[in-house]
Amino acid sequence: LSSVLEVLGTVLPEERIILREGSLEKLSKDFYWYSPVLKRQLEDKKADFGLMIETREELQKVISILFEYQVPIQIRGGGTGNYGQLIPLYGGVILDLSGMDAIHSVEEGVLRAEPGVRIATIELEAGKAGYEMRCIPSTWVKSSFGGFLAGGSGGIGSITYGGIASNDNMVSATICTVEAEPKIVKIEGPDCLRVLHTYGTNGILVEAEMKLGVKRKYEQLIFSHADWSTLFDWTNSIAQDRSILKRLVTQFDGDIVDAFKPLRRYFTEGEHVTFLLIDEAFVEGVLASAEEAGIRFCHQMPLNFPPKPPYLTDYTWNHTTLWALKKDPNITYLQLGFGPTGFKERAQLLKDAFPDEIFHHLEFTANHEPEGEATGISCGGLPIVKFTTEERLNEIISFCWDNGIFVANPHTCILEEGGRHDDLDEKRRLKSLYDPKGLLNPGKMKTYESNPFTAPV
Ligand code: FAD
Repeated sequence: LSSVLEVLGTVLPEERIILREGSLEKLSKDFYWYSPVLKRQLEDKKADFGLMIETREELQKVISILFEYQVPIQIRGGGTGNYGQLIPLYGGVILDLSGMDAIHSVEEGVLRAEPGVRIATIELEAGKAGYEMRCIPSTWVKSSFGGFLAGGSGGIGSITYGGIASNDNMVSATICTVEAEPKIVKIEGPDCLRVLHTYGTNGILVEAEMKLGVKRKYEQLIFSHADWSTLFDWTNSIAQDRSILKRLVTQFDGDIVDAFKPLRRYFTEGEHVTFLLIDEAFVEGVLASAEEAGIRFCHQMPLNFPPKPPYLTDYTWNHTTLWALKKDPNITYLQLGFGPTGFKERAQLLKDAFPDEIFHHLEFTANHEPEGEATGISCGGLPIVKFTTEERLNEIISFCWDNGIFVANPHTCILEEGGRHDDLDEKRRLKSLYDPKGLLNPGKMKTYESNPFTAPV
């Protein structure tokens, strides 16, 4: 370790080489503790040192040294990942790229930026030019562009545009390879998806281009109803109506919203709740439709620009789980897809099978195929799950699979176990090309056979 640190000291100032235990512990962790399973597996994992990188040139010099000394390399953006994606399984280094944070351009509806820029900053800059990001995670205040592309999937905005991998949302991704002489490679079009959502295992993102949407002025609306099915049907009707311009459609079981302390005064006890972000021009129509369907209108707040809290988004997507964990540390969650059709029936089936263990949190999204047309609006779930044992959690997961419910398992940090990777062979091929020694986040792409590190995980 001392010799590699000595050489790194020739290319980076001392204050950007992190060795202090407390700082290293912080740099090495994300929100993995959401999962009781990952908490047990990853609690003691940590990098040996951290490096704060500010430019692409610096990155290339550092990688060249790390390659020579065969050091495991983990990349960090904002550190808000949920599955321990960035946590080193074999020690090594954390490269903090939050200093590589330039927005190169926001032009003709396309953003070109470095990975470390915060999504909140992009929203601000894009907003000034009349645009908004097509989808953002609910962690948009803290998380980075690169971390979202490499570790996330979609979120607010996905009701209109789908997720990162949907449609033509991504224009290009530029990566730095891990070699003696690191190269910069730009991958354009849908091929770039092969280095995205791979947890930094097959390339280090140094720049990306993503399409933007037209900026809208949204109102934040809360509705409720005592009957889950009645509320679902109305919420779904709003979600399905593409003529209503919107950024968020979320429905929660009444048991969940009790955890949203700052908003409690707007809820009626025992009622299930829907949150919407709707373009202001459509609010009147949505309110009229709620009245006609007998849905209770609870509250409305504008979403200002530049953005100022309160944000309803702070309670949606994986923020819901955070509030629920604050109220009851014995809960956990799942990430489910209920299918392009029959989604209400599957959600109902799951609830009926585990009435005291599953509490529905539904996010409505547009389903797009890469390069394809929108194929419809459906709903996925991030249900709150009452946690008892890993065995019971696995029983619930098996029930989902047996009943046509897709599970992106958030209780694993292994790429192949966490989601659908239809192009895994290609992702693996790129890893051998761009990371020939297998130094990038070793152990996370488990089907990559040339992992040189063998310490037990
Ligand atoms: P990090 O945690 O720093 O990194 C994530 C992964 O990307 C790691 O594997 C890391 O190694 C890799 N990585 C980071 N930068 C690079 C790079 N330059 N090159 C290669 N690899 C890199 N996710 C969603 O998709 N939608 C949501 O709505 C959402 N809501 C969330 C709510 C909460 C409360 C929490 C805790 C998490 C949520 N997440 C969500 C997960 C996470 O916040 C997002 O995916 C976020 O965008 C990750 O960004 P980050 O900068 O924090 O990434």
